[in-house]
Amino acid sequence: MMFKHRSPSQQEKILTLALRQIEIMLKNMQSDGKDLSRLKLKKFQKTHHIDCSCKLCKTAKTKNDPRLRGLLEDGFKVYLPGSSKDS
Ligand SMILES: [Zn+2]
Repeated sequence: MMFKHRSPSQQEKILTLALRQIEIMLKNMQSDGKDLSRLKLKKFQKTHHIDCSCKLCKTAKTKNDPRLRGLLEDGFKVYLPGSSKDS
């Protein structure tokens, strides 16, 4: 994890700050005349290969819950529908 060495309250603070920054940025964009009404946020997760046998994937298999699988990538993507091929 990225914030491994930080306490939960520090994480909260960072999150609050980040959200405030994003809000300010979006407000600025909007006052610049940008149309943000179609803006979308998507969470993406790339799981390990279906045949992977690491600890996480094994647990996922035994519990029959794909959400427990190991992750290669995990993050967020902001996009405008129709503006990119992979939306
Ligand atoms: Zn795995």
